[in-house]
Amino acid sequence: MSGERAAVLTALHSDVDACRRCAIGYTRTKVVCGVGDPHARLVVVGEGPGENEDRQGAPFVGRAGDLLTKMLAAIDLQREDVFITNTIKCRATLEENGRLKNRAPMQEELANCRPYLDRELSVVEPRVILALGAPAAKSFLGSAFSITRQRGIWYKTADGVDLMVTFHPAYLLRLTGGEMTAVKKLVYADLLAVRARLDATAAAAGAPRPDNPSELPNDGQITGTTQLTLGDL
Ligand code: URA
Repeated sequence: MSGERAAVLTALHSDVDACRRCAIGYTRTKVVCGVGDPHARLVVVGEGPGENEDRQGAPFVGRAGDLLTKMLAAIDLQREDVFITNTIKCRATLEENGRLKNRAPMQEELANCRPYLDRELSVVEPRVILALGAPAAKSFLGSAFSITRQRGIWYKTADGVDLMVTFHPAYLLRLTGGEMTAVKKLVYADLLAVRARLDATAAAAGAPRPDNPSELPNDGQITGTTQLTLGDL
């Protein structure tokens, strides 16, 4: 990562590191800020760091992360092509039988962390946001959002960015048999819609992003042909 955007993201990381707005700011191992291309057209927003992410200080590095990598590959994207982040930057946990388990972020945690997500989005300026799972979707679309009824639809964020919601890879990993196949089909359809929207915005732009084209791989265009299929997820 190089350039002005990278410098802003590094400064943001320091601010998040110093943040103790929530109790989880005291129990985390490492903060987990977004990673990837600061010029990405696609930002992927997950829920929050899990155990592996908390230990490594990077988003989506566990099993759900491996599946996210495959989901991106299914639409011909590498992790490095996109920017991957979360609604909250510290691991949210609860203790059960002496062990720490992940839990969904609380409203207060989402609200406290929102300015950090907003700063990431304002630096990267994506054309498309893909929210993974209900908590991420709710952070953009409000608490009434229903993932089963409202995923797979295009929305606009308050800043006018195209937003798609699909199921979280961790949810996919919990499914088996016919249910898993059915949900994978839905996820694959959502991913193809994201790919089509990215291609359409790239075609409409017709040129590299103007701020610093020389920094952009492939002149900022997302290239390649989508040959992978549902079975690759
Ligand atoms: N799940 C998330 O939502 N985010 C991560 O970073 C890892 C797992």
